[in-house]
Amino acid sequence: MNDSKVKGRVQSANERVHNFDEVEFGYNEEEALKEANRCLQCKNPRCVQGCPVHIAIPEFIKCIKEKNFKKAYEVISDSSSLPAICGRVCPQEKQCESMCIKGLKGEAISIGALERYVATYALENNLSSTISKEKNGKNIAIVGSGPAGLSCAGELARAGFDVTIYEVLHKPGGVLVYGIPEFRLPKSIVQKEIDSLKKIGVKILCDVFIGNSLTIDDLREKYDAIFLGTGAGLPRFMGIEGENANQVFSANEVLTRINLMGAYKNDAKTPVKKGKVAYIIGGGNVAIDAVRSLKRLGVDARIMYRRSIEELPARKMEVEHAMEEGIPFEFLVNPKKILVDEDNNVVGMEVVNMKLGEKGEDGRASVEEDLSSLHTVSCDMVVMALGTSPNHTALKNSDIKLTDRSLIEVDGGKTSIDSVYAGGDAVTGAATVILAMEAGKNAAKEIIEQFKN
Ligand SMILES: Cc1cc2nc3c(=O)[nH]c(=O)nc-3n(C[C@H](O)[C@H](O)[C@H](O)COP(=O)(O)OP(=O)(O)OC[C@H]3O[C@@H](n4cnc5c(N)ncnc54)[C@H](O)[C@@H]3O)c2cc1C
Repeated sequence: MNDSKVKGRVQSANERVHNFDEVEFGYNEEEALKEANRCLQCKNPRCVQGCPVHIAIPEFIKCIKEKNFKKAYEVISDSSSLPAICGRVCPQEKQCESMCIKGLKGEAISIGALERYVATYALENNLSSTISKEKNGKNIAIVGSGPAGLSCAGELARAGFDVTIYEVLHKPGGVLVYGIPEFRLPKSIVQKEIDSLKKIGVKILCDVFIGNSLTIDDLREKYDAIFLGTGAGLPRFMGIEGENANQVFSANEVLTRINLMGAYKNDAKTPVKKGKVAYIIGGGNVAIDAVRSLKRLGVDARIMYRRSIEELPARKMEVEHAMEEGIPFEFLVNPKKILVDEDNNVVGMEVVNMKLGEKGEDGRASVEEDLSSLHTVSCDMVVMALGTSPNHTALKNSDIKLTDRSLIEVDGGKTSIDSVYAGGDAVTGAATVILAMEAGKNAAKEIIEQFKN
């Protein structure tokens, strides 16, 4: 018997490379019911163990089968504040879906697509999670409005705390608004999730740079506790010759201009200075988002990755979408030098082929240069997508301890300073939305515990 998952409908590749509209349409009711009916409702559900926030997955899928979408939303909301976002961008194939028993012999249940269906229903029907407690008179400041800050805020507001988020950018959402492109995560969805937090009393103050406009000590005077969810937004570069040329960008800058500043619109005030041929260096989600965004702006945009296709760290589905969109991938090649003309404009790169070596402790193959293969490629734009590190301006003049890797040191969610908590990418280094959410939620639980009478 054919027991394949219900395939989601997508915009055709030919069409979508000319717009920034969402690639996937999401299930309709009929598709969601059909997919939900594939779930075996395991007594000991492995999928729940695979979910970092432990959503009661079989329970919400059972509610879908019964067409009780409101209850399905309530079940998900017990564990997750941002289901419309997680349903779209979580790496389910490495988490809940990778544990699904159906995946052993066939195709796992599309848990992410079902979560997205329920979240869409909730947004369309104005459902929001309820506050269970009276206000407890405690004030909490949250620094950063990415998934870590938002999930911490939601959890605390529901428990009766007065919560204020401080965000340096002019829009809340962190990477969800400035990094992940519109065609994967529409900004209106992020805004609706943020609006539902505002409905339960969360205040958001944008354009406030903690560490500059206000310090941690200022916040400590005014608030009972602080949560730092400042992310890892500082891009890394290779340190090679020519990297300071015109038309060498970080992927973060390109994506911020496109997503947050609307550079893809004709009337954009801060457009991206596009090239004709761009190489995006890297193979993670950030590289794939940058290459697909530039392709949509009419650039001949290509990926250059120093390992092979098997090691690509980006989500499999995003890589498949990029390949369908006709984006060339050059594997086992790495830049050695960026070539420039007399005006310091990029004209190409000197690159070298790479060989894979032994696998390291992290399971990834080491790489070695084959210097005899040195050759040049032509391009007039280079975008570095090599990972990011935390920017710790928020900690200026504070005694908060950092680890050897320059991440905020925590014990549970507690930093080295009393009543100051931290979580998300600022603590782990660049990771995922759901892990940041989990960290925010866990820190909120510790804060709730601290103020328990
Ligand atoms: C392009 C891109 C694509 C990605 N794709 C995926 C994906 O498909 N799936 C997935 O799970 N993960 C993905 N990730 C990773 C994921 O988005 C991050 O792991 C997650 O957003 C981290 O959440 P956070 O809340 O810790 O930090 P962030 O989302 O970075 O939010 C931190 C916020 O703090 C603010 N801030 C920083 N310093 C200060 C200060 N001093 N004062 C005030 N505000 C401050 C920042 O402006 C920002 O808004 C992607 C990341 C990028 C960059």
